[in-house]
Amino acid sequence: MAETCHYCSLMIRPSYVRLILVAAVAVLLAAALAASSGRAAAAASAKPLAGIIVGIDPGHNGRNADDPSFIDHLIWNGRERETCDTAGTETDGGYTEARFNFKVATYLRADLQRDGARVVMTRTSNTGVGPCVTTRAQIINRAHADVAIDIHADGGPASGRGFTVLEPVADGPNDRVIGSSRRFGSDVRSAFLSMTTMPVSTYDGVDAVAYRDDLAGLNLTTVPKVLVECGNMRNATDAALLTSARFQQEIARALAAAIIRFLGR
Ligand code: ZN
Repeated sequence: MAETCHYCSLMIRPSYVRLILVAAVAVLLAAALAASSGRAAAAASAKPLAGIIVGIDPGHNGRNADDPSFIDHLIWNGRERETCDTAGTETDGGYTEARFNFKVATYLRADLQRDGARVVMTRTSNTGVGPCVTTRAQIINRAHADVAIDIHADGGPASGRGFTVLEPVADGPNDRVIGSSRRFGSDVRSAFLSMTTMPVSTYDGVDAVAYRDDLAGLNLTTVPKVLVECGNMRNATDAALLTSARFQQEIARALAAAIIRFLGR
């Protein structure tokens, strides 16, 4: 009997040990899962732009110059007729404004998405034609963006430097977002001054602000929006900055900071 019992206990004991081990592993796994999902929830709720929609319009497009009949056709910009778009400007070295605009937009989209925003872009490559400036405004309006930015670089006089924030003028469709757009413009201007090395424009606007009633993107907007000319591609000093990936990322960070500040996040 003693031998049998001894035999039994030997058989039973490992299964108890297995049970205890399985239970312990299950408890540890459950605790780890709970902790990680708690951390994920905390991280999601900590993202400053969670629940926000941001519109980004990278001006022009890489192939606009190849289709003049489309790009030159006239559209109604809310106040007058203008062409669907233009090819934009470029540096003396041939770096196009369309490429610069798209690079900054792509960096900005990544920054905003990291902060929890949903981003709506008016174009998703730099190898196409269009869309027209009217369509770009519609894309952002229909997305009901909380705020939007038109990204450009200027083709000013070669001796002139600096950035300018172009702000809308009331014309009907945009009436309800004039005040908020100007507040956002002020945030963009402050962020450029504190977070980039680009100076205020020496040739456009007053103290880096210009009010414009001739641009479809601003005339037709129903969401708070400004257009930023990030620098002058025709000026050698500005061009050296504008074509550098590091500076493009610096601009994107400044714009993201301006958006977060504008939204009070
Ligand atoms: Zn432009």
